[in-house]
Amino acid sequence: MSKTIFEKIIERELPSKVIYEDDLCIAIEDIAPKAPTHILIIPKKPIQKLSEATTDDEVLLGHLMIVVNKVARLLNIQDAFNVVINNGKDAGQTVFHLHIHLLAGRNFQDFFPG
Ligand code: AMP
Repeated sequence: MSKTIFEKIIERELPSKVIYEDDLCIAIEDIAPKAPTHILIIPKKPIQKLSEATTDDEVLLGHLMIVVNKVARLLNIQDAFNVVINNGKDAGQTVFHLHIHLLAGRNFQDFFPG
């Protein structure tokens, strides 16, 4: 199967603005930000979408959430941010390599009223 954009970014075949990286994941700036801060946290393991993750991925998924916190602190947005995962084409997923959107600086309360 051909590589996704995110595999190419992880392998440095495509450029990106890297905010954080470790053995399991990379965090990059979104190329078309939907909020003043818009970071993508991407596991290096090419899971196509969240619904394809298995119990084998439990530690990895937990790690990604801890990285959300790390990146939020790095960017000083730890007090107010949103995380989004689009799962499947009809839910707006366009890149079929699991990723977490970390968004801040925009009020999403119209979408997710409390
Ligand atoms: P999704 O629609 O949930 O699959 O999210 C894919 C995200 O990847 C979108 O927000 C795009 O703007 C972003 N994106 C696509 N290509 C790139 C790229 N080359 N570098 C950074 N972000 C990208």
